[in-house]
Formats: sequence, C-alpha cells, structure tokens
Amino acid sequence: MLVGVLALQGDFEAHARVLGELGAEVREVRTPAGLQGLDGLVMPGGESTTMTLAIEREGLAQPLRALVAAGTPTLGTCAGMIMLDSDHLGLLDVRTRRNAFGRQVSSFETDLALGALANGGGPLRAIFIRAPWVEAHGAGVEVLAEVDGHPVAVREGNVLAVAFHPELSGDRRLHAWLIGRIRQSEGDRS
Ligand code: GLN
Repeated sequence: MLVGVLALQGDFEAHARVLGELGAEVREVRTPAGLQGLDGLVMPGGESTTMTLAIEREGLAQPLRALVAAGTPTLGTCAGMIMLDSDHLGLLDVRTRRNAFGRQVSSFETDLALGALANGGGPLRAIFIRAPWVEAHGAGVEVLAEVDGHPVAVREGNVLAVAFHPELSGDRRLHAWLIGRIRQSEGDRS
C-alpha cells in the first residue's frame, strides 16, 4: 500500500511518520509524476496561500483533482482541508473560513467525539493551530464533529477533512481510517 503525502510545504513529515508507523509505504509528493500509483493521499496542514501557489507552479491541480475524484481515499488536515474545498481544488462540497477561530485563540486543544470514526476508543484529542472551520456545506457532506457549532471534521465519500492536526496528537485513528478505507477499496476491486 502506497500513500502519498503532498510535500510542497507544511508539516508533511509528521504525517509520513504516522503512516509509516501504521505500516504504509509513504511517498512525499512534489510533482505530478509523484501521484502515479498512489493508493491514498494526505493533504497536510501548513499555509494555504503558499500551498495554492506551489500547486499551481508544479502543475499539480489537475492531477490532484483526477486522483481524488477517481475515489482515492484522502485525508486533508487544516490547510489541507482548505485546499480541498470548493474555492480551491473543489473536491469537497464545503466552503471553509481561514483562521476562523480568530487571533486571540489562534491555537487550542480540545477533545472531540468522532462517532464511528473513533472506533469505540473514546474522544480524540484535537490540536487546532490557526485553524479553519467549515462555513457551509452541501447535503452530501457528513459532519463528524463541531466546535462552538462550527463543523471541524467532515466526510464526503472517500474524502475525510479535519480542521485540526491529527498527526501531532499521537492518536493515529484518523490515519488508520485512511488505511482502512484503502484496504476496503482494494477489497472492492478484487
Ligand atoms: N491558517 C492556515 C491557512 O489559512 C492553516 C493553518 C494550518 O494548517 N495549521 O492556510
């Protein structure tokens, strides 16, 4: 199983480490060729303007769209969630608000109940760093968790997006979801 981590900018190394600990083979992706043969994808956190420019510069927008639209299991976190929204790559039927929690509380931690995704293991410790929230979403989007009434974890088909940083908390359940989803889609194909 080969999982790509978009590695143009941001905290891609932490994601790669967690995926490796879970037994996946990991590839840092910086070019369209790097997307070939991937079974899953992580869009990490970072800075969404810088990431948008880098995606354009490398000609990655179209091949990223094709990969995710083809059903490849995908996890987007923080700036990665912004990149997936309808104002950016358009792969998730949501609009996000950047830096939504404001300057006063730019970073915080909280426990989130994530329903079925929690896999019976209790709430997930969520680290928010200058995080976005979901401002609006389509009917096909499942809201998994909210903070102050704003969605911060959403899923639409093969795409899971969260406003926080699961790669920093030591709780690997969201990366495990991605790997489980890849196994499931491989099972469906065989
Ligand atoms: N505030 C950043 C942005 O708008 C996202 C922060 C993050 O990914 N931790 O791009």
